[in-house]
Amino acid sequence: MTAMIARNVSALSQALAAKEISSVELTQLYLDRIARLNPEINAFVTVDADKSLAQARAADESRAVGKAGKGAGPLTGIPLAQKDIFCTKGWLTTCGSRMLGNFVSPYDATVIENYNAAGAVILGKTNMDEFAMGSSNETSYFGAVKNPWDTARVPGGSSGGSAAAVAALMAPAATGTDTGGSIRQPAALCNLTGLKPTYGVVSRYGMVAFASSLDQAGPMGRSAEDCALLLNAMAGFDERDSTSLSREKEDYGREISAAAGDKPLAGLKIGLPKEFFGTSERSGCSPEVMQLVDAAIAEYRKLGAETVDISLPNMKLSVPAYYVIAPAEASSNLSRFDGVRYGYRAPEYSDLNEMYARSRAQGFGVEVKRRILIGTYVLSHGYYDAYYLQAQRVRRLIANDFVAAFRQCDVIMGPTSPSTAFNLGEKAADPVQMYLSDIYTIAVNLAGLPGMSIPCGFASSLPAGLQLIGDYFSEAKLLNVAHRYQQTTDWHLRHPSGFD
Ligand code: GLN
Repeated sequence: MTAMIARNVSALSQALAAKEISSVELTQLYLDRIARLNPEINAFVTVDADKSLAQARAADESRAVGKAGKGAGPLTGIPLAQKDIFCTKGWLTTCGSRMLGNFVSPYDATVIENYNAAGAVILGKTNMDEFAMGSSNETSYFGAVKNPWDTARVPGGSSGGSAAAVAALMAPAATGTDTGGSIRQPAALCNLTGLKPTYGVVSRYGMVAFASSLDQAGPMGRSAEDCALLLNAMAGFDERDSTSLSREKEDYGREISAAAGDKPLAGLKIGLPKEFFGTSERSGCSPEVMQLVDAAIAEYRKLGAETVDISLPNMKLSVPAYYVIAPAEASSNLSRFDGVRYGYRAPEYSDLNEMYARSRAQGFGVEVKRRILIGTYVLSHGYYDAYYLQAQRVRRLIANDFVAAFRQCDVIMGPTSPSTAFNLGEKAADPVQMYLSDIYTIAVNLAGLPGMSIPCGFASSLPAGLQLIGDYFSEAKLLNVAHRYQQTTDWHLRHPSGFD
């Protein structure tokens, strides 16, 4: 049965349709594996077999009554891992924090509602950096997640639990959220395919807010094909999110399923920003990772694509601008956690102020407090103009760089992460080193663009990711560009050993 759990979502969907296996049986296979492996990997914060199996039974019933197009869709009965940032009715939603350690959501996030409507089964809630702040999954109140490719190393963050769950075959696919790289970077470090959609494509309703103008949810799976299936379920206008975009429903897999010849990407122009590859910045990326990225680009030329040299001159300002804007928004979003309305409350206090102060002091971890302090500082009278306003201007310049770049090319490529998975504890004491893990991903969030990471090989047995950045609303194209590469390479089909 190991073969079954290693299948991708589309293959599992066929197996369910062909009655090769039921959703209850499939869900049980994953639950058994979670029970066996999670104590070591720590990818899930919450598992509730009864709830999962009840959903699986309902899915089996709708498949039994559903003739083509009725009752069942491609995700009916597919078990998925959900990042613990999405409010999930009746389940704990901790966001990796002590602050929400006892929070049972009274309602579903739109993403969860959409997956429920598609008939998917919730396998459990995955571990994450506290309030999605981190690049290693070490800031979780529930402990670090281990990378299944090497358990002495981090899986990346903040969607590290989702990434580790899929990599260790504890789930066929998962959800993540990406504020500055948190889908793409853990996907790269765990050999997965991950997509951060254009800002506004997936509703943020019920997704615990970190930095509202940057946060965006997306799929993490084994293949581009699977990400398309998941995004089809996740995306769509939602009037409960004022930044949700009202657009015609689209099939994100339409370019993947279109026929193509042996040069399927003929005519595609790939932009290579010198800031991702140039010699001075090259020192930011490990030579082994850069070699794999170069080889992947050579493969793209074989598929018919041409490459053009481009420049994103303000790229170097993306990390500093992000670490003003994201903490500013976080400090405001996190003010709601005061021990009064929900979440953690300090057991002892003498008056109201002390209750607030102690609840927040005890409920939040070090990284979250650091962000709140930075955020309140840059927003404070006297510093607002010097930091926050300036960062917003830089953000616009960065977005404009991409507008100019997409006049010259269709897709931008480069590394996702400057290194493969680093050791647990290696960067934990040095926040700036940790922040630099996202040098290649953050600009995409500042501009609101879609970005992907796909597996592109191994350096010293650790996976590396190739990043694909597209113009606004080019998800279907990005997924196809990723898919064509996955048809001629097998990096994405490899699994870590030692977990059978
Ligand atoms: N690593 C970045 C941060 O710590 C991005 C996190 C994210 O995308 N949620 O803020």
